[in-house]
Amino acid sequence: MSFASEKSNSEYLKFLDIPDLSINDQEIKISETRCSSLLNRLDYGGRRSSEEEFTINVFKGCTHNCSYCYAPSLIHDERKWGTYVGVKINAPLVLERELRGMTDKKMVLVSSASDPYQAIESRYKLTRHCLQILQRHQFPVIILTRSPLVLRDLDILKKFEWVRVGVSISSLSGDFFEPGVPKLEARLKTLQKLNEEGIETWVSLAPIAPQIMLTNFEWLFRRLKQAKISAISLGMLRFVGYEASRIMFEERTGVDSNKVLEDGVRIIAGLRELAQSYGLDTSCSSINYEKKNFDDTVARSSTIDNFVDQHVRQNGMMHIISRN
Ligand code: SF4
Repeated sequence: MSFASEKSNSEYLKFLDIPDLSINDQEIKISETRCSSLLNRLDYGGRRSSEEEFTINVFKGCTHNCSYCYAPSLIHDERKWGTYVGVKINAPLVLERELRGMTDKKMVLVSSASDPYQAIESRYKLTRHCLQILQRHQFPVIILTRSPLVLRDLDILKKFEWVRVGVSISSLSGDFFEPGVPKLEARLKTLQKLNEEGIETWVSLAPIAPQIMLTNFEWLFRRLKQAKISAISLGMLRFVGYEASRIMFEERTGVDSNKVLEDGVRIIAGLRELAQSYGLDTSCSSINYEKKNFDDTVARSSTIDNFVDQHVRQNGMMHIISRN
Protein backbone atom coordinates (compact mmCIF):
# COMPACT_ATOMS: atom_id res chain seq x y z
CA MET A 1 0.00 0.00 0.00
CA SER A 2 1.30 3.43 -0.71
CA PHE A 3 0.04 6.78 0.35
CA ALA A 4 0.55 10.19 -1.09
CA SER A 5 1.48 11.19 2.43
CA GLU A 6 4.67 9.15 2.24
CA LYS A 7 6.60 12.16 1.04
CA SER A 8 5.06 14.63 3.43
CA ASN A 9 5.78 12.25 6.28
CA SER A 10 9.52 12.54 5.76
CA GLU A 11 9.19 16.25 5.12
CA TYR A 12 7.48 16.75 8.43
CA LEU A 13 10.03 14.68 10.27
CA LYS A 14 12.74 16.83 8.75
CA PHE A 15 10.88 20.00 9.62
CA LEU A 16 10.57 18.82 13.19
CA ASP A 17 14.18 17.75 13.38
CA ILE A 18 13.28 14.20 14.34
CA PRO A 19 16.23 11.98 13.57
CA ASP A 20 14.57 8.61 13.31
CA LEU A 21 11.14 7.23 13.91
CA SER A 22 12.01 3.78 12.75
CA ILE A 23 12.00 0.73 14.94
CA ASN A 24 15.10 -1.33 15.53
CA ASP A 25 13.77 -4.83 14.99
CA GLN A 26 16.72 -6.25 16.90
CA GLU A 27 15.60 -4.52 20.08
CA ILE A 28 11.85 -4.42 19.66
CA LYS A 29 9.83 -7.57 19.19
CA ILE A 30 7.18 -6.88 16.58
CA SER A 31 4.40 -9.41 16.20
CA GLU A 32 1.57 -9.19 13.72
CA THR A 33 -1.68 -10.26 15.28
CA ARG A 34 -5.35 -10.28 14.38
CA CYS A 35 -8.14 -8.87 16.50
CA SER A 36 -11.75 -9.99 16.56
CA SER A 37 -13.00 -6.57 17.71
CA LEU A 38 -11.48 -3.13 17.86
CA LEU A 39 -14.04 -0.69 19.21
CA ASN A 40 -13.93 -0.73 22.96
CA ARG A 41 -17.01 0.79 24.53
CA LEU A 42 -16.51 3.36 27.24
CA ASP A 43 -19.26 3.21 29.76
CA TYR A 44 -18.11 5.58 32.48
CA GLY A 45 -17.46 3.19 35.27
CA GLY A 46 -20.36 0.87 34.67
CA ARG A 47 -22.90 3.58 33.95
CA ARG A 48 -24.17 2.75 30.50
CA SER A 49 -25.53 6.02 29.26
CA SER A 50 -26.61 7.88 26.21
CA GLU A 51 -23.10 9.32 26.18
CA GLU A 52 -21.38 6.06 25.34
CA GLU A 53 -18.14 6.48 23.53
CA PHE A 54 -15.43 4.28 22.13
CA THR A 55 -11.73 3.88 22.14
CA ILE A 56 -9.53 1.98 19.72
CA ASN A 57 -5.99 0.65 20.13
CA VAL A 58 -4.38 -0.69 16.98
CA PHE A 59 -1.24 -1.65 18.91
CA LYS A 60 -0.69 -3.74 21.99
CA GLY A 61 2.38 -2.32 23.70
CA CYS A 62 4.12 1.00 23.30
CA THR A 63 7.73 1.73 22.44
CA HIS A 64 7.52 5.15 24.04
CA ASN A 65 8.37 3.06 27.05
CA CYS A 66 7.30 5.43 29.83
CA SER A 67 8.43 4.21 33.23
CA TYR A 68 5.08 5.04 34.81
CA CYS A 69 2.78 3.65 32.10
CA TYR A 70 -0.47 2.11 33.33
CA ALA A 71 -0.87 -0.18 30.32
CA PRO A 72 1.38 -3.01 31.61
CA SER A 73 -1.08 -3.46 34.47
CA LEU A 74 -3.81 -4.12 31.90
CA ILE A 75 -1.91 -6.14 29.34
CA HIS A 76 -0.36 -8.69 31.71
CA ASP A 77 2.57 -9.54 29.44
CA GLU A 78 5.65 -10.95 31.11
CA ARG A 79 8.00 -9.21 28.71
CA LYS A 80 9.74 -5.96 29.56
CA TRP A 81 7.50 -2.98 28.85
CA GLY A 82 8.61 -1.00 25.81
CA THR A 83 10.32 -3.95 24.13
CA TYR A 84 7.39 -5.39 22.20
CA VAL A 85 4.48 -4.28 20.05
CA GLY A 86 1.60 -6.39 18.86
CA VAL A 87 0.37 -4.97 15.57
CA LYS A 88 -3.31 -5.66 14.90
CA ILE A 89 -2.94 -5.89 11.16
CA ASN A 90 -6.64 -6.47 10.48
CA ALA A 91 -7.72 -3.49 12.62
CA PRO A 92 -9.05 -1.36 9.72
CA LEU A 93 -11.10 -4.26 8.35
CA VAL A 94 -12.57 -4.98 11.76
CA LEU A 95 -13.32 -1.29 12.34
CA GLU A 96 -15.05 -0.99 8.98
CA ARG A 97 -17.22 -3.97 9.86
CA GLU A 98 -18.03 -2.63 13.30
CA LEU A 99 -18.98 0.85 12.09
CA ARG A 100 -21.15 -0.36 9.26
CA GLY A 101 -24.76 0.30 10.13
CA MET A 102 -24.02 2.39 13.22
CA THR A 103 -26.20 5.42 12.89
CA ASP A 104 -25.53 7.09 16.23
CA LYS A 105 -22.12 8.71 15.92
CA LYS A 106 -20.31 8.17 19.20
CA MET A 107 -17.02 9.82 19.86
CA VAL A 108 -13.94 7.62 19.39
CA LEU A 109 -10.71 8.09 21.34
CA VAL A 110 -7.55 7.17 19.47
CA SER A 111 -5.96 5.76 21.66
CA SER A 112 -6.23 4.84 25.33
CA ALA A 113 -3.62 2.15 26.08
CA SER A 114 -0.92 2.75 23.47
CA ASP A 115 0.32 5.67 21.44
CA PRO A 116 -1.39 5.56 18.03
CA TYR A 117 1.61 7.32 16.46
CA GLN A 118 4.44 5.38 18.05
CA ALA A 119 7.26 4.63 15.61
CA ILE A 120 5.85 1.40 14.23
CA GLU A 121 2.87 3.33 12.86
CA SER A 122 5.15 4.87 10.25
CA ARG A 123 5.57 1.36 8.85
CA TYR A 124 2.06 -0.11 9.17
CA LYS A 125 -0.16 3.01 8.87
CA LEU A 126 -2.94 1.34 10.81
CA THR A 127 -3.90 4.50 12.66
CA ARG A 128 -4.03 6.28 9.32
CA HIS A 129 -6.29 3.62 7.82
CA CYS A 130 -8.58 3.67 10.85
CA LEU A 131 -8.85 7.46 10.76
CA GLN A 132 -9.82 7.29 7.10
CA ILE A 133 -12.58 4.86 7.98
CA LEU A 134 -13.79 6.91 10.94
CA GLN A 135 -13.82 10.02 8.78
CA ARG A 136 -15.73 8.28 6.01
CA HIS A 137 -18.33 7.15 8.52
CA GLN A 138 -18.37 10.68 10.00
CA PHE A 139 -17.51 9.74 13.53
CA PRO A 140 -16.12 12.46 15.82
CA VAL A 141 -12.61 11.64 16.96
CA ILE A 142 -10.24 12.65 19.73
CA ILE A 143 -6.61 11.74 19.22
CA LEU A 144 -4.13 11.56 22.08
CA THR A 145 -0.46 11.13 21.21
CA ARG A 146 3.08 12.18 22.02
CA SER A 147 4.39 11.90 18.51
CA PRO A 148 4.79 14.40 15.68
CA LEU A 149 3.98 11.58 13.31
CA VAL A 150 0.36 12.71 13.68
CA LEU A 151 1.28 15.48 11.22
CA ARG A 152 1.59 12.89 8.48
CA ASP A 153 -2.19 12.54 8.61
CA LEU A 154 -3.08 16.21 8.35
CA ASP A 155 -4.78 15.53 5.04
CA ILE A 156 -7.26 13.21 6.74
CA LEU A 157 -7.65 15.31 9.88
CA LYS A 158 -8.71 18.25 7.75
CA LYS A 159 -11.59 16.27 6.30
CA PHE A 160 -13.18 15.48 9.65
CA GLU A 161 -16.31 17.29 10.64
CA TRP A 162 -15.17 17.14 14.29
CA VAL A 163 -11.70 16.18 15.42
CA ARG A 164 -9.45 17.25 18.29
CA VAL A 165 -5.80 16.36 18.60
CA GLY A 166 -4.27 16.18 22.05
CA VAL A 167 -0.60 15.94 22.91
CA SER A 168 0.42 14.79 26.35
CA ILE A 169 3.20 16.36 28.35
CA SER A 170 4.15 15.12 31.80
CA SER A 171 6.14 16.56 34.65
CA LEU A 172 8.64 13.74 34.05
CA SER A 173 9.96 14.94 30.70
CA GLY A 174 13.25 13.50 29.53
CA ASP A 175 14.97 10.25 28.70
CA PHE A 176 15.17 8.92 32.22
CA PHE A 177 11.42 8.55 32.77
CA GLU A 178 10.28 8.62 29.13
CA PRO A 179 13.07 7.05 27.08
CA GLY A 180 11.10 6.56 23.86
CA VAL A 181 9.00 9.73 23.86
CA PRO A 182 9.73 12.40 21.23
CA LYS A 183 11.34 15.54 22.65
CA LEU A 184 9.17 18.18 24.25
CA GLU A 185 10.21 20.75 21.67
CA ALA A 186 9.05 18.43 18.88
CA ARG A 187 5.69 18.02 20.58
CA LEU A 188 5.28 21.78 20.93
CA LYS A 189 6.14 22.27 17.27
CA THR A 190 3.60 19.60 16.43
CA LEU A 191 0.89 21.44 18.35
CA GLN A 192 1.80 24.68 16.67
CA LYS A 193 1.75 23.14 13.22
CA LEU A 194 -1.62 21.50 13.85
CA ASN A 195 -3.00 24.81 14.99
CA GLU A 196 -1.62 26.63 11.97
CA GLU A 197 -3.31 24.05 9.79
CA GLY A 198 -6.64 24.72 11.46
CA ILE A 199 -6.87 21.59 13.62
CA GLU A 200 -8.15 22.17 17.14
CA THR A 201 -5.69 21.01 19.73
CA TRP A 202 -5.44 20.43 23.45
CA VAL A 203 -2.77 19.37 25.88
CA SER A 204 -3.01 16.62 28.44
CA LEU A 205 -0.63 17.68 31.21
CA ALA A 206 -0.22 14.21 32.57
CA PRO A 207 0.94 12.52 34.47
CA ILE A 208 2.07 15.10 36.97
CA ALA A 209 4.29 13.59 39.67
CA PRO A 210 3.97 16.27 42.36
CA GLN A 211 7.47 15.77 43.76
CA ILE A 212 9.27 15.51 40.42
CA MET A 213 8.88 18.58 38.29
CA LEU A 214 11.33 18.18 35.43
CA THR A 215 9.15 20.25 33.16
CA ASN A 216 9.33 24.01 33.58
CA PHE A 217 5.62 24.69 33.62
CA GLU A 218 5.90 28.45 33.65
CA TRP A 219 7.95 28.26 30.46
CA LEU A 220 5.57 25.63 29.04
CA PHE A 221 2.43 27.68 29.70
CA ARG A 222 4.04 30.67 28.04
CA ARG A 223 4.88 28.55 25.00
CA LEU A 224 1.37 27.08 24.86
CA LYS A 225 -0.11 30.53 25.01
CA GLN A 226 2.19 31.76 22.25
CA ALA A 227 1.25 28.75 20.14
CA LYS A 228 -2.43 29.58 20.76
CA ILE A 229 -3.13 26.29 22.53
CA SER A 230 -5.83 27.22 24.97
CA ALA A 231 -7.22 23.96 26.35
CA ILE A 232 -5.31 21.89 28.86
CA SER A 233 -6.21 19.15 31.30
CA LEU A 234 -4.18 18.31 34.37
CA GLY A 235 -3.77 14.75 35.56
CA MET A 236 -1.87 13.42 38.54
CA LEU A 237 0.21 10.26 38.50
CA ARG A 238 -1.45 7.42 40.31
CA PHE A 239 -0.82 3.76 40.89
CA VAL A 240 -3.87 2.73 42.90
CA GLY A 241 -5.08 -0.52 41.37
CA TYR A 242 -2.09 -0.72 39.00
CA GLU A 243 0.40 -2.70 40.98
CA ALA A 244 2.46 -3.90 38.00
CA SER A 245 2.95 -0.27 36.96
CA ARG A 246 3.92 0.78 40.46
CA ILE A 247 6.51 -2.01 40.66
CA MET A 248 7.86 -1.17 37.22
CA PHE A 249 8.15 2.50 38.13
CA GLU A 250 10.03 1.82 41.35
CA GLU A 251 12.33 -0.79 39.83
CA ARG A 252 13.23 1.33 36.85
CA THR A 253 13.68 4.65 38.58
CA GLY A 254 14.47 3.87 42.19
CA VAL A 255 11.86 6.43 43.18
CA ASP A 256 9.44 5.74 46.04
CA SER A 257 5.98 5.75 44.46
CA ASN A 258 4.33 7.06 47.62
CA LYS A 259 6.76 9.85 48.27
CA VAL A 260 6.55 11.11 44.73
CA LEU A 261 2.82 11.76 45.16
CA GLU A 262 3.07 13.73 48.39
CA ASP A 263 1.32 17.09 48.51
CA GLY A 264 -0.35 16.35 45.19
CA VAL A 265 -3.62 18.20 45.70
CA ARG A 266 -1.92 21.45 46.64
CA ILE A 267 0.64 21.22 43.85
CA ILE A 268 -1.94 20.45 41.17
CA ALA A 269 -4.11 23.33 42.40
CA GLY A 270 -1.09 25.63 42.17
CA LEU A 271 -0.35 24.47 38.62
CA ARG A 272 -3.94 25.00 37.60
CA GLU A 273 -3.85 28.51 38.98
CA LEU A 274 -0.61 29.20 37.17
CA ALA A 275 -2.08 27.89 33.90
CA GLN A 276 -5.12 30.11 34.32
CA SER A 277 -2.89 33.12 34.95
CA TYR A 278 -1.56 32.53 31.43
CA GLY A 279 -5.11 32.51 30.09
CA LEU A 280 -5.24 28.75 29.54
CA ASP A 281 -8.58 26.98 29.83
CA THR A 282 -8.20 24.19 32.39
CA SER A 283 -11.78 23.02 32.01
CA CYS A 284 -11.29 21.90 28.41
CA SER A 285 -14.74 23.29 27.64
CA SER A 286 -13.54 24.51 24.27
CA ILE A 287 -13.00 20.96 23.08
CA ASN A 288 -16.30 19.43 24.12
CA TYR A 289 -18.12 17.48 21.52
CA GLU A 290 -21.74 18.47 21.38
CA LYS A 291 -24.49 16.86 19.49
CA LYS A 292 -28.23 16.97 19.44
CA ASN A 293 -30.34 14.48 21.28
CA PHE A 294 -32.73 12.25 19.36
CA ASP A 295 -35.58 14.73 19.64
CA ASP A 296 -33.11 17.41 18.59
CA THR A 297 -33.90 19.58 21.56
CA VAL A 298 -31.30 18.83 24.18
CA ALA A 299 -27.64 19.14 23.49
CA ARG A 300 -25.39 16.65 25.20
CA SER A 301 -21.69 16.66 25.28
CA SER A 302 -18.82 14.25 25.32
CA THR A 303 -15.82 15.69 26.99
CA ILE A 304 -12.18 14.99 27.57
CA ASP A 305 -13.13 14.87 31.22
CA ASN A 306 -15.50 12.02 30.50
CA PHE A 307 -12.75 10.11 28.77
CA VAL A 308 -10.30 10.58 31.55
CA ASP A 309 -12.87 9.80 34.22
CA GLN A 310 -13.72 6.62 32.41
CA HIS A 311 -10.12 5.56 32.18
CA VAL A 312 -9.49 6.27 35.80
CA ARG A 313 -12.45 4.17 36.84
CA GLN A 314 -12.32 1.40 34.35
CA ASN A 315 -9.27 1.17 32.15
CA GLY A 316 -6.75 2.42 34.59
CA MET A 317 -5.47 5.68 33.21
CA MET A 318 -3.22 7.07 35.89
CA HIS A 319 -4.32 10.60 35.37
CA ILE A 320 -6.79 12.21 37.70
CA ILE A 321 -8.41 15.16 36.09
CA SER A 322 -8.49 18.27 38.19
CA ARG A 323 -11.59 20.23 37.54
CA ASN A 324 -12.21 23.88 38.07
S1 SF4 B 1 2.19 6.35 28.93
FE1 SF4 B 1 1.33 6.45 26.86
S2 SF4 B 1 3.05 7.03 25.54
FE2 SF4 B 1 3.93 6.29 27.47
S3 SF4 B 1 4.33 4.10 27.14
FE3 SF4 B 1 2.29 4.26 28.05
S4 SF4 B 1 0.88 4.31 26.33
FE4 SF4 B 1 2.94 4.78 25.54
